[in-house]
Amino acid sequence: MRRPFIAGNWKMNTDSHSGPELVKALRQGLAQVDMSKVDVAVIPPFVYLAQVVNAARNSRIAVGAQDIYYEPKGAFTGEISAAMIKDVGCNYCLCGHSERRHVIGETDELINKKVAAAINGGLLPILCVGELLEEREAGKTNEIVERQVRKGLEGLSAEKAAAVTLAYEPVWAIGTGKTATSDQAQEVHAMIRELLVKLYDKSFADDMRIQYGGSAKPENAAELMANEDVDGLLVGGASLKMDDFLAIINASIPA
Ligand code: PEP
Repeated sequence: MRRPFIAGNWKMNTDSHSGPELVKALRQGLAQVDMSKVDVAVIPPFVYLAQVVNAARNSRIAVGAQDIYYEPKGAFTGEISAAMIKDVGCNYCLCGHSERRHVIGETDELINKKVAAAINGGLLPILCVGELLEEREAGKTNEIVERQVRKGLEGLSAEKAAAVTLAYEPVWAIGTGKTATSDQAQEVHAMIRELLVKLYDKSFADDMRIQYGGSAKPENAAELMANEDVDGLLVGGASLKMDDFLAIINASIPA
């Protein structure tokens, strides 16, 4: 049984006051939630990680970074290593978020190095994959997502890759208010799980959590999560409104 995993990606939002305040509100809201039934993480901007980790201390709220660099240390101005992310108290990090792929221009090869560096540094990477609108319209969704999963996990043993959470995020649904239908999400998630059987084996594929991301909100969370292969949600905009994020978490817990 895969435990639902709900993560809130704050992107380039919040500040030193509002970040910890969001966590305070989340802690209060989660006091009523059976935390053995769900994993929850928040993913703030790098500069607020320490404050958010502090605000989340002694709670079941995990904290993640939005990116990572694959080198351990040295002359890489502006970059942040796995050891630094771990040192500040995080356990997760995003790798290959669509905004990094398509705005910053990250390649599958770079993302693969980041995933490996995260795992080797003791972090749990959330590897994001997903097609652009024109790719979906051209019938290339499976091809694109398959390539991103294969390349993202390239060279990783089953033991190492078990640290990964996958997040299927159709790019046309991110921050646009357009959510993939429940059937569209399930179709791609099932395809990814079949691919994992081929890349590793059935037990590996059965254990891997695959989140959906793309305009997840309280109104669609339960329907998305009802799909057999949707194991969690990566939430952007709605994770900044704590009532919405809590409603999403509550809607994701199996009855
Ligand atoms: C995201 O940032 O990963 C995301 C899914 O954003 P939104 O929920 O705002 O579409």
